[in-house]
Amino acid sequence: MNALEIKNISVTYDKQPALEDVTFSVPEGSLTGIIGPNGAGKSTLIKSILRLIPKLSGDVKVYGKPYKEQRKMIGYVPQRSEVDWDFPTNALDVVLMGRYGHIGWLKRPGKKEKQFAMECLEKVGMQDYAKRQISQLSGGQQQRVFLARALAQDAQIYFMDEPFAGVDAATEKAIMNLLQEWKKQGKTVLVVHHDLQTVRDYFDHCLLLNKTPVKFGPTDKVFTYDNLQETYGGALSILTQESTLLQEG
Ligand code: ADP
Repeated sequence: MNALEIKNISVTYDKQPALEDVTFSVPEGSLTGIIGPNGAGKSTLIKSILRLIPKLSGDVKVYGKPYKEQRKMIGYVPQRSEVDWDFPTNALDVVLMGRYGHIGWLKRPGKKEKQFAMECLEKVGMQDYAKRQISQLSGGQQQRVFLARALAQDAQIYFMDEPFAGVDAATEKAIMNLLQEWKKQGKTVLVVHHDLQTVRDYFDHCLLLNKTPVKFGPTDKVFTYDNLQETYGGALSILTQESTLLQEG
């Protein structure tokens, strides 16, 4: 069963194409790395699927149904740099925002919801920071709060935009543990990822993207030197100078 079917998505910004005719289908329970150079349209792809930006064309099906009927099944962890961390709110409230899809915007969260949000914070080791203003958290702690919010959403499909950017090794491990747990539960996760060295370890599927998909499929088949060369062009030699992981075979 495909969790997600993307057909012919194209996006332009000021008439400049950012994505051209992107088509791929993501199997349920897979963990996909979205890989490609800066400016390849990785964030744009996620935002257009989530309808945060308009598409020129294209169609998104979630478990065979139109996106708008299924949006409650979707969770999103944006890039940390895109969030206003000076917004005056504490960690617990950010996590509670993940519950609004369940409780409705107009209702105040009750004791049960708060308890659940606390459990989500606990799962990412942030229970002691519940009342801390988000501006006063480190980068790794902020990312953990985002993870707790994603947990609170209890989605079936998660999109994460560079969750490993600027976090320490312990947080990176915590994120990977959570992704593996979600996979075990049959959830489907797509992650914009930059570190080519960890792709084979982290992801069972890859989307190699450069405005248009170069390849999508199981990591063993798709994550090859030739395909990366096609995706990154000349920039690949710089990326692979010290890497042996990209050698085929
Ligand atoms: P990636 O996530 O792969 O680095 P992006 O999706 O952020 O790529 O960007 C794809 C292209 O679209 C880039 O050329 C970028 O400059 C452009 N772009 C992204 N967001 C905007 C925007 N809001 N307005 C205009 N151009 C944009």
